Amino acid sequence: MLIYDLDLDSLTKLLQEWDEPAYRAKQIWQGLYQHLYDSPEQFTNLSKSLREKLAENVTFAPFKVKTYLDSSDGFTRKTLLELPDKNLIEAVLMKYGDPADNPQIKTSAPNSENLRGAKNRRTLCISTQVGCAMGCVFCATGQMGFKRHLSSGEIVAQVLFYARMLKERNEVVTNIVLMGMGEPFHNYDNTTEAIDRLNDPSGFNFGARRFTISTVGLVPQIRRFADEKRQVNLAISLHAADDESRVAMLPVNKRYKIDDVIEACKYYVEQTHRRITFEWALIHGVNDSPEVAKKLAARLKGLMCHVNAIPLNPTTGYNGQATSRERAAKFKETLEQAGIPCTIRMRRGIDIHAGCGQLAGAV
Ligand code: SAH
Ligand code: SF4
Repeated sequence: MLIYDLDLDSLTKLLQEWDEPAYRAKQIWQGLYQHLYDSPEQFTNLSKSLREKLAENVTFAPFKVKTYLDSSDGFTRKTLLELPDKNLIEAVLMKYGDPADNPQIKTSAPNSENLRGAKNRRTLCISTQVGCAMGCVFCATGQMGFKRHLSSGEIVAQVLFYARMLKERNEVVTNIVLMGMGEPFHNYDNTTEAIDRLNDPSGFNFGARRFTISTVGLVPQIRRFADEKRQVNLAISLHAADDESRVAMLPVNKRYKIDDVIEACKYYVEQTHRRITFEWALIHGVNDSPEVAKKLAARLKGLMCHVNAIPLNPTTGYNGQATSRERAAKFKETLEQAGIPCTIRMRRGIDIHAGCGQLAGAV
């Protein structure tokens, strides 16, 4: 049993079974999620016998670090993690602005607001599955197929792993995006449980608004997510403005058409009053023309939303080319003229295959 798979209630029950007082569960919870302990010996506030019991009955090691890869820009680190069943997953840390460059931040106390400022962003991109069943043609994870779901604890543990690494440098995780390997809404329960566990104020206390879930557009789950009303950000991978071209890239569009996805997005905005993001990988000559931008704007009209476009990242299984800087700028301009806000995202970590859609559990 992986300790990170337990929520506070299950941990409390386990300790009850061991005839331990209830406050012990709280102590373990704080050890795991506030002090970021990753082995029973670190829990010096527990009795030796309880530490031994923990060591015998639960595991604190969700995976082994296989390799680290740092991008040449110095701002992206990808870690390849080996699960006990030998499956590999990837988790990526992206830095925006180094505290060493900013004396004000350098001298500030850990966890101060300065450490959470925009210049000091530390964004984690984590995985929810080994592989992915959705088969999007331009995505390396899709190209490898589906292996298995990650447990909630395996999702949580990726965050704690980087949180410990950052703590050594007096830094903190500021944003978490569920945009690594896998489709989070295909593994709905484990993904939302992981978010809720990390969100717990008596533990890791990571604000809901600092999470972003990205989905390929699984309609029933978008509606369920809307009903559950978490303050988590939602991004939808759209990539095309008509069903014919979307189905050629995203096979899931056979099942859920663009209209159905947009209807579900409207419902989400109504229920949560949160702005929704649409993701768009700009592929030269496929979905990057002003005509496509106009078509997209017409479909999104009236919806509280934002388009996040990124030039396609290369993968071995797909021939499409990234759009040029000029065409990307034109795409953005056309959308904005039609009233739809758009940002062109920088490509990150391409040299270490840590960019969007490049994660395939390999170096
Ligand atoms: N399965 C989820 C989240 C993981 S993919 C989803 O599809 O939304 C994260 C983002 O990377 C998605 O928006 C996805 O469409 C995008 N993506 C996949 N392959 C890409 C590529 N080669 N270049 C740029 N973006 C890509
Ligand atoms: Fe899966 Fe997302 Fe890749 Fe599509 S883009 S194959 S849904 S990980």
